[in-house]
Order: sequence, then C-alpha cells, then structure tokens
Amino acid sequence: MKTLKKFINEDKIQELLINQSIPTSEEVTAIVNKALESKGLDLEEVATLIRVEDSKQLDQIFQAAKKIKQSIYGNRIVMFAPLYISNYCVNGCLYCGYKCGNNMQRKKLTDEELASEARQIIQMGHKRIVLEAGEDEENCSIDYVINAMNVLYKAKQDDTSLRRINVNIAATSVENYERLKAAEIGTYTLFQETYHEETYKKYHPQGPKSNYLYHLIAMDRAMEGGIDDVGIGALFGLYDYRFEVLALMMHKDHLEEAFGVGPHTISVPRIKKANNVNVNAMPYAVTDDEFKKLVAIIRLAVPYTGIILSTREEAKFREEVINLGVSQISAGSKTDVGGYHEEARIETQFELADERPHEVIIKSLLEKGYLPSYCTACYRAGRTGDRFMQVAKTGAIQNLCHPNALMTLKEYLEDYCDDELKALGNRVIEENISKIPSDKMRANTIERLERIANGERDLYF
Ligand code: SAM
Repeated sequence: MKTLKKFINEDKIQELLINQSIPTSEEVTAIVNKALESKGLDLEEVATLIRVEDSKQLDQIFQAAKKIKQSIYGNRIVMFAPLYISNYCVNGCLYCGYKCGNNMQRKKLTDEELASEARQIIQMGHKRIVLEAGEDEENCSIDYVINAMNVLYKAKQDDTSLRRINVNIAATSVENYERLKAAEIGTYTLFQETYHEETYKKYHPQGPKSNYLYHLIAMDRAMEGGIDDVGIGALFGLYDYRFEVLALMMHKDHLEEAFGVGPHTISVPRIKKANNVNVNAMPYAVTDDEFKKLVAIIRLAVPYTGIILSTREEAKFREEVINLGVSQISAGSKTDVGGYHEEARIETQFELADERPHEVIIKSLLEKGYLPSYCTACYRAGRTGDRFMQVAKTGAIQNLCHPNALMTLKEYLEDYCDDELKALGNRVIEENISKIPSDKMRANTIERLERIANGERDLYF
C-alpha cells in the first residue's frame, strides 16, 4: 500500500469555508478565464466560486462550463444503464433503501436472470452498464460478482453483447480489485457519500462500510490492484455541499499525486426518497440552484474528468444540468434487482425522477443537438488511466471519440429505432460529420458509417 495517510484535510476545507466574503466580479472573471484554458482550478479558486451568489456571475460560470464541455467533449453524451444484481446488504446506511434493517424482499440474480436482464438492456440499445450491488460477503461474494460479470459479458441478444461493465460495489481488498481487473472491469465506481468524517460516522452506524478510512482509500487499493479508471462521487444532501465539492477536489489531487492519474469520472447523486428513509429530516438538502452551481464548478475545476448525472434528477431539470458540463447520463434505469423485467419488479434502492423510456431520452437529446454516444472504444483499445488522459489532453479525443460516437449512434439507429427516430438520428449524424477535424478520419468515418448501414457492427477507432 503506497499510502495510508488521510488526504482529506477537513481543517483546510473549513478554513476555506469560513471565508464568507462575496467574490468581486474581477475575481470571478479571473478564475473563469483561467478555467477556460482547460487547465483546471486550485482549491482556493474552487472555494471562491462556491461563494458566488450573484446571478450575473453565476451565468458567467455556467457559460464557461458549457464552453469547456463543448471544447473537450463536443456535443457528445455517453449513455449507460445501471444493473442491480443483488440487494442483500449488511450495512445500515441511514439514507439507503437497501439498509440491512429494512424489511424487504432480498434477492440476487441467478445466471439465467443475469443473462436475461443483460438481454433486456441490450434490447434497449445500451452497450455500457454499471453493475450495482449491496455489500454482503456471504450472499454477494466477490466470486458471485465476478461470475456475474462473466455471464453478463457473454449474454447475447441478436448477436450483440454488452461491451463495458463498470462496477459499483463496496470497498474491498487489493486482491479483489485485481480479480475485478482480470474480469475486465471498465471503471470501478465508489461514492464516498460524505467526506465529512463525523457525518459519515452518523450515517453509517453499522457494517463494514462504517469504516471511514477503509472506504476513503478504496480507490488507492483499486489502483494498486491495477484498475486505473476509477469513478468518485459524493451523495449530495448528507452534509454541506460546499464541503463535499472541496473534498472531491482533494480526493482528485491525491489520486493524481499518488498514481499520476485522477478520477475518470465524478458522479453527483442527490439524495432521494427511499424505503424507511426520511429525506425531509436531513438538514443539508441541496437546492436546484446550488446543484447547478456545483456541477458547473466541477466542470471548470476538472475539465478532463467525466461528470455523470443519473435518473435521480427530473427530466426537465436534467436537461438544464446536462448543459452545464455533464458528459455521461443513464437512461431507462431501474434501481431494483431484476427491474428490467416488468413482471419481476421489487423494492427499489431509491426513487427515480426521470422514468422516461430510453428512446424518449435519446429523441430529446437529438432534438437539442446532442450526440448520444454508446462508445466503449477507449477501454477496449487499452486507452485507460493516464493513456486516456493523454489522448484527452492533447485534443486527439475529437478525432477518436467523435467518430466513435457517430458510429455507435448509427448502430443504435439501425438496430433499435423506428423510422422517425432513425431519420432524426441520421440528420444529426450528417450534421456532425463535418466536426471531425482530420480529413482522413472524416473519410474513414463516412466509409465505416456505410459499412454499418450495410450490417457490419462493432467498428471503432
Ligand atoms: N454497496 C455499494 C456501496 O456501498 O457503495 C454500492 C452502492 S449503491 C448500489 C450506489 C449508490 O447509491 C450509493 O453509493 C449511494 O450514493 C446511492 N444512494 C443510496 N441511497 C440513496 C438515496 N436514498 N438517494 C440517492 N442515492 C442513494
């Protein structure tokens, strides 16, 4: 283990948050201009932006977030779906519908059910999932998870399989992370929930997850185990959102310092109603305006890190927030075990707010000029960790991600859409071909799009 030191300096964060002074327009402009160079921001600068309340200054931050997103990710939005494989849990997390004290049906998917859920998800058009499970060594061991990954990767629907399985399971050992790596994990995702230790202890009264430090340094162990794409996040609503944003920055700095590569993604889940969870009694609810601000600031601060927005947010609000720098969204999600089979629905982990079917979300994205992408190429071509960051930082991403987005959207249109959606999608593809910077790549992409229309699949750069 390279490091066991606690890298979240709470005193430093509190010191920054004590400063209540309202930032001047000169200060904000200087920070926003620095951010527009896509070099990121330091902790003090992030703390200053968090204090912004003035609507003009906020608008300046929002516009910059949009610009940075556009310059690095273009109009692409990567799509995924969560897949809950087990709701057994030995933890007592107060905010979670799966907490062990809750009297509910406990279930884990059999191999047959796993394959069947995978086929349902493939049938929706997805290629990328996040495997989710509660923590229970006995009922949901690492062997079970690894077997599930194998079954899911192998499942086929009309000759198509899932191409990337990200995994969000409890903090575990280096050895288990090595096994997940060998089983071809995409990104390992784990949210710290709250970085504020006292609050963490309050919300995690029992079970292995109550160990703040073990949870905090999970990503260090994941990196040690060879997983170089890791996704961090905080559950907004447990503690002061300003504290969490600064702590996320410290976590990012730590990973960069210790391993030479920061988080691949940052997730921004907001607390939702769940079985036996009284959200109204939680004193740190994050308002929509605060949420928009924090997403935009994260985009300014870490331009090359994906930002993930889930279906916890309502459709209309989601579309507003996507505009502020989000690069990945889920669609058609179910948060119960076996939930992709209507007849098998059971208790969910928490309530969803955007329950639009996948294709409705795609239509809405296309109409707004976004390019939904089912690309999984970087991971499959070995562009993970710092290799991915190098591609991203040199701008080469436009020559790879943009063509890959177009090709995977084309596959989706050919395989899963009615004529109306197909026509809309093809129009968007046409409009976007000219955005591929290199002449050679543009010509290659046009040729490949024709091959996809003629039935070839799984082409990527
Ligand atoms: N067992 C893993 C763990 O302990 O981290 C899996 C995580 S769980 C399947 C995925 C995430 O859902 C949690 O990390 C938490 O942030 C989020 N979550 C739990 N309860 C929630 C709620 N009531 N509202 C919104 N998100 C919630």
